[in-house]
Amino acid sequence: MQRAQPQDWYRTTRKGEDVTLIDEPFITPFYRCNMWHVRGRDRDILVDSGMGVVSLRTWVPLVTERALTAVASHTHFDHIGCHHEFEDRAVHRAEADILANPTRVATLADPYVTDEIFDCLPPLPYRSDTYAVSGAQATRLLDDGDIVDLGDRHFEVIHTPGHSPGGIALWEAATGILFSGDIVYDGELIEDTYHSNAQDYYRSMVRLYDLPVETVHGGHFPSYGRDRHREIIRAWLDGKNATTA
Ligand SMILES: [Zn+2]
Ligand SMILES: [Zn+2]
Repeated sequence: MQRAQPQDWYRTTRKGEDVTLIDEPFITPFYRCNMWHVRGRDRDILVDSGMGVVSLRTWVPLVTERALTAVASHTHFDHIGCHHEFEDRAVHRAEADILANPTRVATLADPYVTDEIFDCLPPLPYRSDTYAVSGAQATRLLDDGDIVDLGDRHFEVIHTPGHSPGGIALWEAATGILFSGDIVYDGELIEDTYHSNAQDYYRSMVRLYDLPVETVHGGHFPSYGRDRHREIIRAWLDGKNATTA
């Protein structure tokens, strides 16, 4: 398989409300993480940081322009690969240990990362069989109800366990923007990892259903609005209720 050039690895897409999507087009869609950059008055946030196979700070100037907090929606390999490049790192306390010591098993790199998840391989010296995320001690531990404050913008932490124990969504009430991570997006949801929990997952989905969202920016796949948000969660809940009835 061909190798990509580092300057081609990342793609940025402006989404409105000073939100920019950063993603890695050479990773196949199912494994391709959405990284969300949000500009604030006093500081910016980056929700998730990709696989870490090419330096984000070197190749995406947007993330070095201003003070920035790298938030982890959760600690699977596709979401925290470049967190170690940032001085300010926030994660839910239930996954702080994984961020600090991201083994291949804990981050799901084992078993998911193989050459098959790429359309074009990352630059050398990348190898799928030895790929691992670099560890990064959190500088802020997040809990449900905490506020991530950008000066003029305020994101509430909603703890959304189920996909993983320390999953969070970030909710900006003023704009109706929800960064949902991997608990819900417009694609096949993953409920069977080693640290997934079905009861937690159900409760998290019920909680997110009632949010008056305008836009959901998920951990994978395209963004969507309120109607689709309700439709996705309603169908998921109906499926669970049918199997347990
Ligand atoms: Zn995940
Ligand atoms: Zn993911």
